[in-house]
Amino acid sequence: RPSDRVLSLPDPAGNAWAIFERARAMQEAGRPVTMLSIGDHDRTTPAALLDQMAQSARAGNTGYAPVPGAAALRAAIAARAARITGAATTPEEVTVTPGGQFALYAALIATLDPGDRVVMIDPYYATYPLTIRAASGTAVICPADPDRGFQPDLAALAEAAKGARALLINSPNNPTGAVYSAETLHGIAEICRKEDLWLISDEVYDSQIWDGKTHLSPRSLPGMAERTIVIGSLSKSHVMTGSRLGWMIAPRAVIAPLWEFQIATTYGVPGYTQDMAMHALTHGDAIAAEVTATYAARRDMAVRLFEGANAVRLSPPEGAMYVMLDVRATGLSGVTFAERLLDTHAIAVMPGEGFGAAAAGHVRVALTVEDAALAEALVTLRRFADAL
Ligand code: PLP
Repeated sequence: RPSDRVLSLPDPAGNAWAIFERARAMQEAGRPVTMLSIGDHDRTTPAALLDQMAQSARAGNTGYAPVPGAAALRAAIAARAARITGAATTPEEVTVTPGGQFALYAALIATLDPGDRVVMIDPYYATYPLTIRAASGTAVICPADPDRGFQPDLAALAEAAKGARALLINSPNNPTGAVYSAETLHGIAEICRKEDLWLISDEVYDSQIWDGKTHLSPRSLPGMAERTIVIGSLSKSHVMTGSRLGWMIAPRAVIAPLWEFQIATTYGVPGYTQDMAMHALTHGDAIAAEVTATYAARRDMAVRLFEGANAVRLSPPEGAMYVMLDVRATGLSGVTFAERLLDTHAIAVMPGEGFGAAAAGHVRVALTVEDAALAEALVTLRRFADAL
């Protein structure tokens, strides 16, 4: 019999990715589908990075690599963090993981004992509840108001935080594209200090902030470096989703014992992938800038295409690679809207409900097809909603 632990993993409320899987099945059956569902790029990893990986592998870097990441890579990640956040960061406060997703799991393992509560803001990245279950934690959900730009409600958060062990936040946010204001982040930091909580800050979209705004990491706020764990990744910024290269920045007291956990689980990230990441961090600023500009331009196009719409409302996001459409005026749930859109027009979007109850009556559109096809799909979506 499988363990209770593994049997407890599936979400009793159903599979958030069901619509994506249906869309994939349609594609496999030969039907073209416009995939606006998952957050993967419509282009492949830049050639300069692939060349670096191939060169590293051919030069012999194919054996076991340093488990917490090569010293030079940890130093480059620390330097990046210091540059972006202004918070002093040493290589000993960094560990390299196979993607931000594993860093999230490791952060929970490092901070929760079985049953400990972790507060997260709804809407949340769809894997959070599963990752918390996998780490034997208990999720406490605190809704953000769609009519207030999905910014967290600090009073509700302070209440939910009582007796919890950790708070998990994500800004720029997936799915909403919201960037938490400085005031909100200061408020969150205050709650963490007052309630003596770990703050797990998922910053995988830290380079994808638009309109000239800059990223504020709560780790840089007073008294927060010793209680914050930052999750980072090159998946989104450098088109490296398949390469699985992420990291965690945390106090040394957390990073040092995690070494044993990494030996027990991943045994490190391939050396040639680490070399590719090193190249991305030291020579890849132009790639990240171009990625950010691409999604910003697509966001602008989406805003234009939904101007004056009756059935669908779009509150312009400030970062990441998605737009959330409020379809409550159609009277349909996000799930039904997404299912009908897929069935009738072969366009796949994600139902808001997969990201939490606060996003009910919304659908998330990933801006991950090229501009002309995206424009066509968005015009179709608007007409579809108007005709409901
Ligand atoms: N965190 C957020 C908010 C995400 O949107 C994603 C991917 O979509 C991840 C973490 C995980 O990214 P990766 O494991 O590819 O670094």
